[in-house]
Amino acid sequence: MLRERCGGLPLSSLKYYLWNIGCQMNQADARRLAEALDVRGMTATRSPEEARVLLLNTCVVRQSAEDKVLGRMASLQSLASDPAASRILLVMGCFVDDPVLMAERYPYVHGFFLPSDLRGVLSHIDAWLGVVPPSADAVSAPAQVNESVAISYGCDHHCTYCIVTDRRGAQRSRPLQEIVREAADLVARGAREITLLGQNVDAYGSDLPEGTDLADVLCAVHEIPGLLRLRFLTSHPREMSQRIIDTAAALPKVCPSWELPAQSGDDTVLRRMARGYTSAHYRDLVRRIREARPDAGINTDIIVGFCGETEGQFENTVALVRDLCFDQVHLAAYSVREGTAAAHWLDDVPPEEKERRRLVIEGLQTEIATARNAALLGEVVPVLVESRQRGRWRGRTPTNKLVFFQDPANWRGVLADVRITWTGPWSMIGEVVNKRDEPSDKTA
Ligand code: SF4
Repeated sequence: MLRERCGGLPLSSLKYYLWNIGCQMNQADARRLAEALDVRGMTATRSPEEARVLLLNTCVVRQSAEDKVLGRMASLQSLASDPAASRILLVMGCFVDDPVLMAERYPYVHGFFLPSDLRGVLSHIDAWLGVVPPSADAVSAPAQVNESVAISYGCDHHCTYCIVTDRRGAQRSRPLQEIVREAADLVARGAREITLLGQNVDAYGSDLPEGTDLADVLCAVHEIPGLLRLRFLTSHPREMSQRIIDTAAALPKVCPSWELPAQSGDDTVLRRMARGYTSAHYRDLVRRIREARPDAGINTDIIVGFCGETEGQFENTVALVRDLCFDQVHLAAYSVREGTAAAHWLDDVPPEEKERRRLVIEGLQTEIATARNAALLGEVVPVLVESRQRGRWRGRTPTNKLVFFQDPANWRGVLADVRITWTGPWSMIGEVVNKRDEPSDKTA
């Protein structure tokens, strides 16, 4: 423990409140932030009243997310402004576009930090606490069974509905060795599955002089002893190369699970979204993935009701979902985001029509997911067990399907063979058959 004293109080008595919403990138940042504060001797609390450090890690991908952030900030204003309490409130993430301007707009917030600016947040806290930061490798806390490691930040695309590029900036790939070091440290602390994260992981390395790509990252992380599974997300149909497909298909620990947002099945809508590919290109990509891994699980994102989307164009999206039989569809009705190109266009699809279209796709995907999972009834599937929930073990198959089973033994972090006895569209239940050996050939 570093210098114990801070304003007369031992660090171990200081609590922090960390509120986090948004994508897996935000979750990974929140994990690293919490670990760094734990190493400083602080403890987490779910009650902001008890905390001296209040931290919000924000997301504004939809209006609803931004409303949540504004609501949370307002609810903490009195706590943050209480002179007697000696407390700080810091806001990080995609809500923060201009820290200086925001400080003027919200004077009760003690600091605004851009997405993933962990160094900025921590040095602000260290200065306020009057402590010397601990060395980077002081983190010793046990890791989760599945952990995420960011491989790049930002994005070079400019999809017309998306605020991310505006908030997270252009793509910055992390050095390969830094990624491998963080992943190896997490595996050494007990992680058995690593998910490589980026707004657009397939573009990894395009900004690096040495020209490494996602395939190189997969190969390097794959060699970490003790790692059982490797995943990557989120992909972009324009950057996913045949080399990435072939490498992911050939490496035993890489799960045959792809997060491949289509957003629409109509070329006019795709052009208006500036996605940079056609529906035919997307369908061909899915065909090539399934050629390389017939057992592939493919999840996608779909936006319905985008500016100008006609009934006929919507039907092309319905056809894409029907034809490609995804494992999961993350579905959203278009919402205007100030600061995006599309915000200047007429949001002309009425809310009730957006909702009708959303329900059409939701209903179709529920049928598809039900049928895909029902095909596994009676089958024995490999499940990496992550945690215990309401008396049942919870884990996932290589294609990211949720499986629950009951057993008195401790299965956390174990690869189990589970016979499926019940299936639903979003999860399955089974009985454990045995402990599976570590992967030697195809993904376990
Ligand atoms: S690829 Fe498009 S939707 Fe995804 S983060 Fe980049 S700009 Fe946003």
